[in-house]
Amino acid sequence: MNGDLGDDPSIPAEPGPSPRPTEVAPAALRVGDLVQFVDVKGRRYQATLRPGGQFHSHAGFVEHDDVVGLPDASTVLTTKGQRLVVVRPTLSDFVFKMPRGAQVIYPKDLGPILMLADIAPGVRVLESGVGSGALSMAMLRAGAEVVGYEIREDFAERAQANVDRFAGELAADRYRIELRDCYEGIDERSVDRVVLDLPEPWRVVPHAVEALRPGGILLAYTPSTVQVSQVRDAIAEAPFFDASTLEVMQRGWYVEGAAVRPDHRMVGHTGFLTVARRLA
Ligand code: SAH
Repeated sequence: MNGDLGDDPSIPAEPGPSPRPTEVAPAALRVGDLVQFVDVKGRRYQATLRPGGQFHSHAGFVEHDDVVGLPDASTVLTTKGQRLVVVRPTLSDFVFKMPRGAQVIYPKDLGPILMLADIAPGVRVLESGVGSGALSMAMLRAGAEVVGYEIREDFAERAQANVDRFAGELAADRYRIELRDCYEGIDERSVDRVVLDLPEPWRVVPHAVEALRPGGILLAYTPSTVQVSQVRDAIAEAPFFDASTLEVMQRGWYVEGAAVRPDHRMVGHTGFLTVARRLA
């Protein structure tokens, strides 16, 4: 995981022609692959390989045609002799760089969400809102079938484009976004999970009671403590058990020779994770 939270203008917004997630990708880089150029300082830039395309850095450029056919994670030289590693991005790399409309859930929290909500192949998830699709991608990659309720059309389109670009082939028939207000209700029935990242998740708790199968899991990601109180109150009044709330803290370490110490800076706060199980 890198610490770079910035958007990268070198990423084209349109979906790539042929998304190839790292875990199923062949060894050699191909036209249509999403790749990441990493410079000696660890800076990362993403691009889709195209015939005749060029990757420009401040130290010269690299022809895409010279990259096609190389093994994943090859070292190349720019026209000015700068060394770059060209590698397929992981989902975590992609989340940090992908085009975003709404605030995304970062990998620090995405991993724990998959475990807390017990996301697995074939699990049916109702997710709301969809935002930029970071959480959708994580759950799709874990094999879930995801229906997303999203109130904003522009965010829904962005999420769909991101999912198509990174996980299109894998996720195509397991992902559907509906443009609707989750506070108004959930039509799906007997879903295994309801996963929420929207401002007032307590307003969805009664609908989650209707939608979840017995034993199903409700999970809500909320940035503020007031939201935690309100969602926990709503859960306490509904047929759920085993409710719990936690936050995940991650501290990177600087490792250079004898200097081995925590990084000076860390992400101080993202959100709280609240989880509960539906009683029969
Ligand atoms: N988890 C997402 C980010 C979600 S941001 C990610 O990882 O990318 C919150 C989203 O909830 C926004 O897109 C917002 O438009 C949507 N939203 C807010 N209220 C909503 C509602 N009542 N019903 C559906 N979506 C809603």
